[in-house]
This record gives sequence, structure tokens and C-alpha cells, in this order.
Amino acid sequence: MAASDQAELTIDLAALAANYKTMQKNAGQAATSAVVKADGYGLGMAQIAPALFDAGCTTFWVAQLNEGISLRGLLPDAVIYVLNGVPSGTAAQFEAHDLRPCLITLAQVEEWQSHCQASKPLLAALFVDSGFNRLGFGEIEIAELMAQPNIFEGWELCLIASHLACADDPTHPMNGAQLERFRNALAVLPKAPASLANSGGIMLGADYHFDMVRTGTMLYGCSATAKEEDALTPIAYLRAPLLQIRQLSAGDSIGYGATFTASGEMTIGIASLGYGDGLSRHFGNQSPSPIRFTIDAQPVSLLGRISMDSLAIDLTNLPKMPSVGDMVEIFGHDNPIDRLAQQGNTISYELLTSLGSRYNRIYK
Ligand SMILES: *Cc1c(COP(=O)(O)O)cnc(C)c1O
Repeated sequence: MAASDQAELTIDLAALAANYKTMQKNAGQAATSAVVKADGYGLGMAQIAPALFDAGCTTFWVAQLNEGISLRGLLPDAVIYVLNGVPSGTAAQFEAHDLRPCLITLAQVEEWQSHCQASKPLLAALFVDSGFNRLGFGEIEIAELMAQPNIFEGWELCLIASHLACADDPTHPMNGAQLERFRNALAVLPKAPASLANSGGIMLGADYHFDMVRTGTMLYGCSATAKEEDALTPIAYLRAPLLQIRQLSAGDSIGYGATFTASGEMTIGIASLGYGDGLSRHFGNQSPSPIRFTIDAQPVSLLGRISMDSLAIDLTNLPKMPSVGDMVEIFGHDNPIDRLAQQGNTISYELLTSLGSRYNRIYK
């Protein structure tokens, strides 16, 4: 077989399905819906969403209308919620593609209502802001909504949802405060099924589950707490082949800006993956503790700046010296994605959604 100079992104759809089943167990009595925004967290909504549907997931969430339209093309029978709600003038598109907006402002509710009155009663969710201060109805806006006579006529309120800001930290007081505010909102609003928890919220326990939970990151094998031991089975494996191995002497430098200088004899490898593939240039030269990848399960350090197409790693004195063509694991099995994210001062969500399009993508 010919060698490849392409990095390889392997996505394990069987592990995805297994993680979905685990999250169903974690969610107890609540229905388990899946969040597939941003192209399925960068892993490919076209493959991710049908695999989740086959695993028994019937309800999905995206952020934008366009994502909803794409998803409808993939899953004709799924329930699809759009988190950004209904931008002005788009209600007919929601109806045409059978999408449910999460209404976030009074203007959106009014627009949905007038569209429905001219067409037919269509389903929509109401998004409550319980303290995140991102999207949705806060306490004041809920009072304004409830002061409008007949605002809930002509359309069907099918879900009331909100989102937690600090579910990644089970000890954070925001969790309890948001739970209480969400309960207060539910007490004031018309009766409808409720949804509060994302992956982290699911792990906070039954109080947070309500009727439906929304899981994203844990399905994709990432931790909701940023602790690698809290993650389920990895589903994404990123590996890059070594293009060249070279010897350095004391005083030799590596890469753009010559930011790393060898203090003695070194063996380095050049791997075929760079910031053009979504691995941030900020990852280069993190001193005193450089970013680590693995090769044949052996940790190796990143050296110097990341180039657009390649990066350098330290192979000096490795017990099992690799050869050109061998794969460096950027993240996956031996180097968990949450560990890499932590070393790079980011989160696994960002690593996944930054993934490039140049890889050889393998779905299994
Ligand atoms: C992205 C998102 C989720 C999924 O969160 P995870 O932490 O990935 O499980 C759930 N709900 C809302 C509103 C979101 O924006």
C-alpha cells in the first residue's frame, strides 16, 4: 500500500451509539435528545446524526436554521429544534422543513404566532434564560410575555427549555440557583414539557433532568467536566504521519521564528498536521510544559511553532524509535482529547469544532 502524507481522522460510530445508550441510562426517566450543532461538533453531522437516529435518538438540536434544513434532509422523521429561534421573516422556512424554533424574544413569539394564525398551529419551544444571560426570556421578559393577552393562542408550546452555565463544575452554586429560577419560570408559564440539562447537567442528577435532556459533548467521547476520567468512550481519533526524521546538534533551531533551540544532540520528527488542520498555533512553545502527543503509546513533546501543514516533535531517546510513515496520535486513545485540551488551555469542544477538512476521514 502506498504511504499517505495525510492526517487521519477516524470516527467510531459504534462508540457514538454506545455513548448514546449510556447517556440514556444516565438520564433516567427523561428523554435523551442529541445536540449536533456545528456539524456534529466538527465530526460530520451527515454521519453522526443518522448513527444517533439508528441508536434510538429521535430528537435533535442545532443552533441555526441552515443547520436545521441540512439535518431535515438527513433525517426526515426526527424532531428538530433550532436554538437561535426564528430570525425575522423565516417562519415559513421553519414550517416548510418541519423545524421547531426555540423562541427567544417576544418579537419572535409574535412573529411565530402571526405566521401560525395565517397558516396552522405549529410547534415551538420557549427558551428561558435562568442566569446564563445568553438567549431567551429572563424574569422580566417572562412577565412581559405573560402580560400579553392571547399570546399563546394559535400555536403550540411543546417545550420550555433553559441552559446551565456551570454544569462542568458540580460544586458551583450557579447550578442550584439556575435550577430554582427555571422552576420559578415553569410555575409562571403555561404547562409544557421541560428541558434544562446538557451533558454536565445530566450528571448533576435527577433534579436537573425534567422531561428531556440535551447531550452533546459526552456523546462525542469528551468529558463534561474537562476531567479526562469523566469521559465516556472516545469516538474521535486524530493521527498524523511522520514525513521526515532528522538529527539536530546543539544550537540548531526549529521552525518559524527559530523559537526552539536544541541544547544538545536531538532526534526530531516532522508530522503532517498543522494549524491549517485546526490545531491552534497557540499550542506551540508552551513552556515550561510543552504540549504532548503520543507515538506508539509513548509521550512525545511538541517543539517550536506549529506551521500551517506540519509540526515538530521530540523523538530523542525514545525506547521504540519510530520510522517515517508512522502515526503520531494527536488525540484519541493514548492521548485523550480532554488531556490535550487542558494542556492547550482550551476545551475539547473547541478542539473538535476546529478540526480541519484536509484529513482522510474514516467512519467505522
Ligand atoms: C451546545 C448546547 C448543549 C449541549 O451541551 P453539551 O455540554 O455539549 O452537552 C445543550 N443545550 C444548549 C442550549 C446548547 O447550546
